[in-house]
Amino acid sequence: QLHKRIQILEDGKKTYPEVDFLNYKDRKRILVTGGAGFVGSHLVDKLMLQGHEVTVVDNFFTGRKRNVEHWIGHENFELLHHDIVNPLFIEVDQIYHLASPASPPFYMYNPIKTIKTNSIGTINMLGLARRVRARVLLASTSEVYGDPEIHPQHEEYWGHVNPIGPRACYDEGKRVAETMCYAYQKQEGVEVRVARIFNTFGPRMHMNDGRVVSNFILQCLQNEPITIYGEGKQTRSFQYVSDLVDGLVALMNGNFSLPVNIGNPDEHTIIEFAQIIKKLIDSAGKRSDSEIVNKPAMTDDPQKRKPDISRAKKYINWQPKVDMLLGINKTIEYFRNELHRSKHSERN
Ligand code: NAD
Ligand code: UDP
Repeated sequence: QLHKRIQILEDGKKTYPEVDFLNYKDRKRILVTGGAGFVGSHLVDKLMLQGHEVTVVDNFFTGRKRNVEHWIGHENFELLHHDIVNPLFIEVDQIYHLASPASPPFYMYNPIKTIKTNSIGTINMLGLARRVRARVLLASTSEVYGDPEIHPQHEEYWGHVNPIGPRACYDEGKRVAETMCYAYQKQEGVEVRVARIFNTFGPRMHMNDGRVVSNFILQCLQNEPITIYGEGKQTRSFQYVSDLVDGLVALMNGNFSLPVNIGNPDEHTIIEFAQIIKKLIDSAGKRSDSEIVNKPAMTDDPQKRKPDISRAKKYINWQPKVDMLLGINKTIEYFRNELHRSKHSERN
């Protein structure tokens, strides 16, 4: 939608939608690591529309220039091709630290790199924050709770993670990243915010992302089998990306510095979720002949996941607003266009 509001003129210049006018004192210089990824690019849109100066740093491992290209050329926007495992020297007021692969196939593809990104990369961002006195928000994850023994998960639960399993590079990487944040806060006085993000979906998810939402939608749209890992009785709670972005901004700008769950408590089994997606695609007039097939269960796959969001409600005045079905319909529309686009580019 935002793309449609940016017009490219005949001389190649772009006109942008009105951004909020900010007084000099309210305008911030904001770094978004991983800003060319799925969540990061939506966050960039919000911050740009608020009138901030935004710098995106990304190594394009799972992100794409296309996700932010509509801002290239805007005087408040800068895109740096940089790997956060290497130090970065810039002047900023706030750092949203999102850089890290997030989908299991991608973070398991090169576990050592996942560990380096979350450990060395986070140290680099905290070191930068200390030098320039910036506030840092870490995009942590519900995976810090592992395969949880309590339900729903509240922030005081310490988790149940297998430290040597295939998911450990990500789970333990994020756990140590949280530890580092509080060490820098205590020892160096760095202001930190920690968002424990639960499963999120929406437009700009990567086509080959491998996460359940994109897999099921693409499988249904292409009449391919819907792959359920295990029996499908495991649960997840899905939030739409705009809710997450609102939560991240509220957390960054609030006064609460302990970890906060950001997620939608609307919980479903994976099998229910497959049926919901198939039904939505059918009711949109494009019959899907996809059948459900069971594949081997993933090792250490968490069996239940649902956020307790009392802390977010109480301390940052946030709760999700977008109905899951509405969000899924928007995401179906996005993937339908992406399929069309990739077929078209194959032909040419
Ligand atoms: P994504 O893979 O779309 O985005 C991650 C971005 O980080 C990509 O643009 C990638 O190229 C970049 N990146 C990876 N390693 C990097 C490095 N070493 N240097 C610079 N850039 C690097 O994933 P996403 O879904 O947008 O997730 C964003 C953040 O939110 C991640 O930190 C993830 O752990 C966290 N999170 C997401 C979810 C979710 O459901 N989407 C859930 C929990 C946590
Ligand atoms: N899943 C599935 N089929 C798929 C992809 C995922 O059954 O094609 C399951 C997966 O085993 C997990 C749940 O869906 O139980 C959510 O997986 P996802 O990779 O989206 O996120 P995460 O496991 O990190 O919550």
